[in-house]
Amino acid sequence: MLTIKDLHARVEEKTIIKGLNLEIKPGEVHAIMGPNGAGKSTLGYVLSGREGYEVEQGEVTFNGANLLEMEVEERAQAGLFLAFQYPVEIPGVSNMEFMKESVNAMRKARGEDELSSAEFLKKAKAACKQVNLPLDFLKRGVNEGFSGGEKKRNEIMQLIMLEPKLAILDESDSGLDVDALQVVANGVNSQRDGKRSFIVVTHYQRLLDFIEPDYVHILAQGKIVKSGGPELAKEVEASGYAWLGQAQEGEE
Ligand code: ADP
Ligand code: MG
Ligand code: MG
Repeated sequence: MLTIKDLHARVEEKTIIKGLNLEIKPGEVHAIMGPNGAGKSTLGYVLSGREGYEVEQGEVTFNGANLLEMEVEERAQAGLFLAFQYPVEIPGVSNMEFMKESVNAMRKARGEDELSSAEFLKKAKAACKQVNLPLDFLKRGVNEGFSGGEKKRNEIMQLIMLEPKLAILDESDSGLDVDALQVVANGVNSQRDGKRSFIVVTHYQRLLDFIEPDYVHILAQGKIVKSGGPELAKEVEASGYAWLGQAQEGEE
């Protein structure tokens, strides 16, 4: 589904991603962990095509297409969903309008009929219920004045509504209470269907108590330095990232 080969990317003048390789097959959940500043969020931004993030080298293929040549909207319509640590506020546009437009754009891209207002509302109500957001959130401006936990719930509601092929969730964990973590985990788990894939970026192991990943990768200094199963996350929990510093010193 997603193949990243020898990716190098920079922000401003600084190269952050330095030779990253990753392969994700349909239905898999990959956790990416790593110390602060390793480049986890940068990877998400590069995959989303965010302005200011420049690919210097390497290839990214998404469902057979060259992701790096696609516009931001094309990436979304091809089924890539990115949830960010700091979701944007769009004052003046109601959550309802925003979601309806987005859902129907996705459906159109998949060759499906648009939802009628009644159909949309029914789906939206069910999704709000699942993430435990009151319905009047649909009437508010997108993320306008939402608390951290509410933004997170809203983001997971978007995930549920948009039905992407690959969702990338960037979770700083910090500031998320256990309830919000469980909403994220429940959202991911409920959307796992053997075909949809996930990349869950997380600083701590805590989130992975609720989401059992198929693979865990450690990203340090711009590349994946270690991959394993869920047990790798538990090793990190127990011993931190100190071993990375030692390994890197040894390399030099
Ligand atoms: P992580 O998410 O793993 O904590 P980030 O991807 O946010 O790490 O950041 C990786 C590195 O890139 C950090 O050293 C950070 O300071 C740097 N960085 C991020 N954004 C910018 C930017 N706009 N300009 C310069 N450096 C940046
Ligand atoms: Mg960070
Ligand atoms: Mg980050």
